[in-house]
Formats: sequence, structure tokens, C-alpha cells
Amino acid sequence: MGFEHFGRVSFTTEAKTVDFIKYLEQGKVMTTRCKKCGTSYFPPKLDCPSCLNSEVEWFEIEGKGKLVTYSVVQYGPSGFEDDAPYTLGIADFGDEMRIFGRLSKGIKADDIKPGMELKIVSTKSADGRIGYEFQKA
Ligand SMILES: [Zn+2]
Repeated sequence: MGFEHFGRVSFTTEAKTVDFIKYLEQGKVMTTRCKKCGTSYFPPKLDCPSCLNSEVEWFEIEGKGKLVTYSVVQYGPSGFEDDAPYTLGIADFGDEMRIFGRLSKGIKADDIKPGMELKIVSTKSADGRIGYEFQKA
């Protein structure tokens, strides 16, 4: 059983969010927008927390976001020990979408500063793990 029966407002079930992974595998970072009130969400939500509508549309996150803030992780938590140091950031893609994610190791530390332009891209690690990261736009 997932979280679908938890609380008063529906939580996203595992079955519903699996599309997000499917899109990442296709190389697209997709998220949802509420068809009723037009609010966009990341990560995707299949039930709109603003108006409780369940009709959403998927769209690809394209264009440039702006780095709002970031933090360099020197000691990774369990599962990420070998990745450190790496940089986590929040990027603003407009439409009230602020996305939390990791910055590509391809970006030089000296180049990282609030306001820099980023794009979001899907990633696949050597061991087949699917994800996304921010790269220089
Ligand atoms: Zn809505």
C-alpha cells in the first residue's frame, strides 16, 4: 500500500509518478500543470494542492532557469558518500516553479553564482540510475 489513503488530501501514489521516470528514461524532464487553475509543479503532482483538481497535463521543462541559491555538499549522506563534493541548488524556471537539484560536475566551482542560467537535463549513471541535473545554459 502506498500513501494514496493517507490524510485528507490525496498524496501522489507510486503508480502515478512512474510516468516521471519513464519520461526521464526518454531523455525528457517532464512535470505537471493543473488543467483547472494552471499551477505548475515540480516534482509532478497528479492532484493539485491549490484547487484539489485531479486533471493535469504533462509538459517538458525547457528553457533557462536561474540559480537562486546553492550549497556545496562536502560529506554525502548514505548512498552519496562517493559523490561528494557536489553542489545542490534551487533554480527558478518561472511560473512559480523552483526546482531543487544537483548541479553538473561539469560546471566549474568559480562559475557557480546566484543568477547564473541553467537548464535541466535527464541523466543516467554508469550503474543505470535515472535522474536529472542542472547544466550551464
Ligand atoms: Zn489547480
